[in-house]
Amino acid sequence: MQALVVGGGIMGLSTAWGLRRMGCGVTVLEQGEIPNLMGSSSDHHRLIRHAYGAELGYTRLVEPAYAAWELLWQTLGVRHYHPTGTLGCNTIIFGRSPIGIGNIMLTGTWGCV
Ligand SMILES: Cc1cc2nc3c(=O)[nH]c(=O)nc-3n(C[C@H](O)[C@H](O)[C@H](O)COP(=O)(O)OP(=O)(O)OC[C@H]3O[C@@H](n4cnc5c(N)ncnc54)[C@H](O)[C@@H]3O)c2cc1C
Repeated sequence: MQALVVGGGIMGLSTAWGLRRMGCGVTVLEQGEIPNLMGSSSDHHRLIRHAYGAELGYTRLVEPAYAAWELLWQTLGVRHYHPTGTLGCNTIIFGRSPIGIGNIMLTGTWGCV
């Protein structure tokens, strides 16, 4: 099977990589350079975490997502993930937060980075 992926951001490239692993031929169409600095996935500070509050759909995706990232690091031979722990603070209760007014949540292992 031949696949055409439009957009060479993290979603498009991950899709292309997955299709290649399944044995498909893949062409990626990207309107700019890869990485495209105008794309939303082209810098160095993205967070992955288990805490998504009431959004159980996200929470269910987290373990498979960690496994997929691990596979990517192994394939690349370089690890771009830096575990730092999580600090969550808010003053309102909203969908993604399991915490309320004035609360602070700490998870993971803390240290200096
Ligand atoms: C400030 C900010 C912080 C964020 N923080 C987090 C976070 O902590 N954790 C998290 O999980 N997510 C976070 N996100 C969301 C995450 O970055 C995006 O969900 C993700 O980058 C989307 O990737 P993408 O490949 O869909 O989009 P993009 O990286 O934008 O890639 C889309 C690509 O498609 C190309 N394209 C578009 N149209 C065409 C076309 N017609 N023809 C050819 N090419 C085309 C574009 O040029 C671009 O390169 C954050 C987003 C922002 C903006």
